Amino acid sequence: MALALQGELTIVRGKIAAIEPRAGGVTIRSGTRRVEFPGGWALPGLVDAHAHVVGLGLAFREGYLRDAPSKHECIERLIAHGPNRGEWIVARGWNQELWSPPLFPTRYDLDRVFPTTPVALTRVDGHALWVNSSALERAGITAATPDPAGGAIVRDEHGMPTGILLDAAMELIQQYIPERTLEDIEHAIIEATAAASSVGLTEIHDMDVLPEHLPIFTQLAEQGKLHCRILSWVRGQRFEWHSAGVLPTTGEFHRVAGIKLFADGALGSRGAALLEPYTDDPSTHGILLLTVEEIAERIKRALDDGFSSIAVHAIGDRAVRTVLDAFEQIQQRYAALDNVRLRIEHSQVVHPDDLPRYVQTGAIASVQPIHCTSDAAMAERRLGTRTATAYRWRLFLQHGVLLCAGSDFPVESHNPLSGIDAFCRRIPPGREHPWYPEERLSATEAIEAYTINAHRAADMSYRRGWLAVGMDADITIVDRNIEVCPAEEILQARTLATVVGGTLYEHA
Ligand SMILES: [Zn+2]
Repeated sequence: MALALQGELTIVRGKIAAIEPRAGGVTIRSGTRRVEFPGGWALPGLVDAHAHVVGLGLAFREGYLRDAPSKHECIERLIAHGPNRGEWIVARGWNQELWSPPLFPTRYDLDRVFPTTPVALTRVDGHALWVNSSALERAGITAATPDPAGGAIVRDEHGMPTGILLDAAMELIQQYIPERTLEDIEHAIIEATAAASSVGLTEIHDMDVLPEHLPIFTQLAEQGKLHCRILSWVRGQRFEWHSAGVLPTTGEFHRVAGIKLFADGALGSRGAALLEPYTDDPSTHGILLLTVEEIAERIKRALDDGFSSIAVHAIGDRAVRTVLDAFEQIQQRYAALDNVRLRIEHSQVVHPDDLPRYVQTGAIASVQPIHCTSDAAMAERRLGTRTATAYRWRLFLQHGVLLCAGSDFPVESHNPLSGIDAFCRRIPPGREHPWYPEERLSATEAIEAYTINAHRAADMSYRRGWLAVGMDADITIVDRNIEVCPAEEILQARTLATVVGGTLYEHA
């Protein structure tokens, strides 16, 4: 069945009341209002199934190091920006893989320009922090500081910290950075959802949400200031949701939907937990952040609190296996989990033996297609021949695994068309040919991962996911039929408007 259509859609009380197919464009009728989009095509509203709303808003506000082609460019941008959190300079988005040589920077690079101002810069994947000597001093980190559990302080040959902190070690610094104000967060959310809406998103699965941010989302939703529906998966690594007394909620435009855990880090910082050592650094397998028992314990607590959706970040094949073990253990101990949605966020490197276990446990693969193309060159170095077992979208579908898609913004662009393009073409930047072309998807399959499958992964498919009478009026209107146009043209499409629960946002 085609997903894209042209014609007149009548909206009554936030639902689609009638669809009259008609070639030539899209008309939205609501009460006495009638808005035409000549040449437009209507799609079910696009969902980003894995993103970080506050992170995107803060990325707009806190200096954007993403795409910086060198560490010198990073430093130039920081000079232009200046301190933004008390006396600290805080920014994110750097990626040494874009630099030549692709080596981690050091504190000394920053010390030359910022001898006394503390600087803390988060890597594009959020799994490494680049700091200067002033920041290390304030945090009291020296050669004598031990690596914390689940993290590492990168050191030189004399044992001196180089200014790079991985995963849990990042917190040694972060605890000294002044907190953002609630107004900062509120503005970040408003800016992020407006930006997401302008590129065609009608709903976002917001991952790793801090309990203290939930009331801001709820209030903005009640005030009608969210241009997308937001579903929150609350931070749970240290039972944060439970300590804060967070329970699931059922709001129209904001809903506390689930709990988010992390089983490992990311490939870029060699924090993803692999079964075999890294090809380009045989001394490490990455870092497993939680054991099977620890994951199962958190899931059990979340189920007891009434949550029915658990999302666990797992990038390396060892992490994926660990999460599947935990899902299995939970299902063996507690029967009747039919209504529980167990999601493996990223699902990047999956050992072939573990694919059938997705089906057995009902695990959902929540993937980010742009990670595949933008990380391809790096993944080849990190994984060697194992790249053949990574980013296997076609294989997931062939096995009957539910595949939903997102961007992980602000790690990648928040434009869902970038993800649909990556699904369909799978061409890494700077290359001409698709990378493992057999794993490409059709445009229809790609759009399904951003619509109906995302709603299935959030238990909302009874209300949203296709354009039909009685469904929620969540619609994305684009200027061409991306379902049938040549794949090379998908990225050229423009979003003309979105409709969320019957409210029209025009973007052209
Ligand atoms: Zn993420």
